[in-house]
Amino acid sequence: MVIAIDGPGGVGKSTVSRRVAAALGVPHFDTGSTYRVTGLVALRSGADLNDPQAVLTAIGTPRIDIEDGVVMVDGEDVTEAIRSGPIAAAASTVATHPEVRRRIVAWQRSWVDHHGGNAVVEGRDIGTVVFPDAPLKIYLTARPEVRAERRSGDSEAAGKSTAEIATELAARDHTDSTRKASPLRPAEDAVIIDTSDLSIDAVVQQILDLADGIG
Ligand code: C5P
Repeated sequence: MVIAIDGPGGVGKSTVSRRVAAALGVPHFDTGSTYRVTGLVALRSGADLNDPQAVLTAIGTPRIDIEDGVVMVDGEDVTEAIRSGPIAAAASTVATHPEVRRRIVAWQRSWVDHHGGNAVVEGRDIGTVVFPDAPLKIYLTARPEVRAERRSGDSEAAGKSTAEIATELAARDHTDSTRKASPLRPAEDAVIIDTSDLSIDAVVQQILDLADGIG
């Protein structure tokens, strides 16, 4: 069974998803890393990020592996490298192209298949596009100022003021929710949880209770 956890940046999605997966004893798949590694590989190869064919060609050659949150490109560990601000922006750009998304979504589905079909999968379009039949779909939100504050603890935000982080988050939200291909939005049957005033433990417990309910 797939548990889909979607939402914008800074809502606590990764921490919550990892904890839910650990509690259930299933793999956790952060699909943001598939777009980030695509952005990294495309940038390194000098591809024009606005040209979907160039991006597809760039990611056609290297061997990309994602396992236990560790991201490898041709044997090089890029887990940290994909967490930078420029790579987040590159990920957001390559993620606007339908052709690129199709390739990446196929890869995400086969990842879950190869892991036995049970996983907690986090992203932006998991409940709407990647696994529309997932029996449990969660959409996390939080107030903008709370999200910026939470992001300030991430390596991506090092040296930036909360105001700068808020501006970057708003820009990425705008790109993600206004793009034509799979925009960021809750699935109709998603359970929406506002995490602004909740502890991580409380959010995790709510999701585990919901998972319990569907057996
Ligand atoms: O979640 P994360 O910040 O790592 O995602 C980076 C970017 O990848 C997002 O801003 C979004 O543009 C894209 N993304 C996506 N669909 C997903 C996951 C991430 O479009 N399922």
